[in-house]
Amino acid sequence: MAFEYAPAPESRAVVDIAPSYGLFIDGEFREASDGKVFKTVSPSTEEVLSEVAQASAEDVDAAVKAARKAFEKWSALPGSERAKYLFRIARIIQERSRELAVLETLDNGKPIKETRDADLPLVAAHFFYYAGWADKLEHAGFGPNPKPLGVAGQVIPWNFPLLMLAWKIAPALAAGNTVVLKPAETTPLSALFFADICRQAGLPKGVVNILTGDGSTGAALVGHEGVDKVAFTGSTAVGKQIARTVAGTDKKLTLELGGKGANIVFDDAPIDQAVEGIVGGIFFNQGQVCCAGSRLLVQESIQDELLDALKRRMSTLRVGDPLDKNTDVGAINSAEQLARITELADSGVAEGAERWAPACELPGNGYWFAPTLFTNVTQAHRIAREEIFGPVLSVLSFRTPAEAVAKANNSQYGLSAGIWTEKGSRMLAVADKLRAGVVWANTFNKFDPTSPFGGYKESGFGREGGRHGLEAYLDV
Ligand code: NAD
Repeated sequence: MAFEYAPAPESRAVVDIAPSYGLFIDGEFREASDGKVFKTVSPSTEEVLSEVAQASAEDVDAAVKAARKAFEKWSALPGSERAKYLFRIARIIQERSRELAVLETLDNGKPIKETRDADLPLVAAHFFYYAGWADKLEHAGFGPNPKPLGVAGQVIPWNFPLLMLAWKIAPALAAGNTVVLKPAETTPLSALFFADICRQAGLPKGVVNILTGDGSTGAALVGHEGVDKVAFTGSTAVGKQIARTVAGTDKKLTLELGGKGANIVFDDAPIDQAVEGIVGGIFFNQGQVCCAGSRLLVQESIQDELLDALKRRMSTLRVGDPLDKNTDVGAINSAEQLARITELADSGVAEGAERWAPACELPGNGYWFAPTLFTNVTQAHRIAREEIFGPVLSVLSFRTPAEAVAKANNSQYGLSAGIWTEKGSRMLAVADKLRAGVVWANTFNKFDPTSPFGGYKESGFGREGGRHGLEAYLDV
């Protein structure tokens, strides 16, 4: 997964962005049936990047029909043939990763350091990984003749546009399904670029269809009777709505929803290492991460020492132009998201928590929020309970491991947690009691295509990644 990049500064000139883009249906780009378009802007400058087609219900129907037609041939191909296409796509992603990283940074606002070193290598890794499964389905313990489900309708959010696409499309295609995917309305560009990569790879027409649009396009896709499997990543509110739509049909469903991850630091933790993990856990991608470590649970005896070290480290974070390779914290994805973060942070102050942020100069244009820390937080505060999806950390303390577990589990969500301790027995005992889909040990926000990812409770159900992620696209 090593990527070598030219040392020249990343710049917009690296990637060509067309003034307008169509929908990708049956291997061709086309206008929306009713001609509707919407604009996508760069969150760090508010500059319009492009105009994109808004798919109608008629377009959804055309895309699902194209996917259905393509399914006959695609699912009948030997797995080794499907693998060849997936390997080809993975290699093209690697070859074009510099363009893709810049495009993603422009459309999303996240630092180039992250798109270049985290998102893109992981995107390629997912296609390589699932390519390796495509010809081994009979030998993977799923029983004889595992069958693809058919047409997958996939809806993804804006926080990791291309990575969420990879999590959904790579296993679906490896298992023999065809897909119709809808990216989020604020980050449509990398999915359209991916459509071009599918053409470059010679993928048969209709196997992958990309429909840009808003929630109404997503709802039409999820509700379409020609869709056999719905895979959704996004907010818990929309996830519940989709569950109601799918209930009573024979569609399969996986939901990856919100989170309120607890990062638990015991008194024997190596402080410097823990501080790096806490900072990465909440400020990576401006905290717009479903599994962010947005609640810091610190053992009372080391609270002062840890918070001093954390504040010192937060003061060194560079906030600003996401295309600058030195930037640590980029722009918030949209004005709406910025308003949500601001409202929740203000509620923290109103409810009596203490707010702290390092002195930093935020750019004039674009959507920005300084890395923020709240102390004097109680479990009743909204900032301790609700998903903020921004660079805001709420600090709570505990005395005993049992109290740490109780506080960590005191959440409607159950997606992620981290534990910092040098005692192996304590690590295992605490991890075992946490009701979270992933628990990191002395690290945070580590991802790998071989590991299943998903939630407990209102964080959703089903797993993506690894063998489990493949099973979600098979009848076994
Ligand atoms: P969102 O739910 O508003 O939107 C997600 C996607 O759903 C978008 O593409 C949107 O257009 C579409 N959509 C909106 N209404 C719809 C409807 N009625 N029917 C079908 N589709 C609809 O979420 P968001 O604000 O884009 O993303 C942030 C949320 O996503 C956070 O809550 C975050 O925790 C969650 N998330 C979860 C994971 C995970 O793996 N668990 C990963 C990333 C993000």
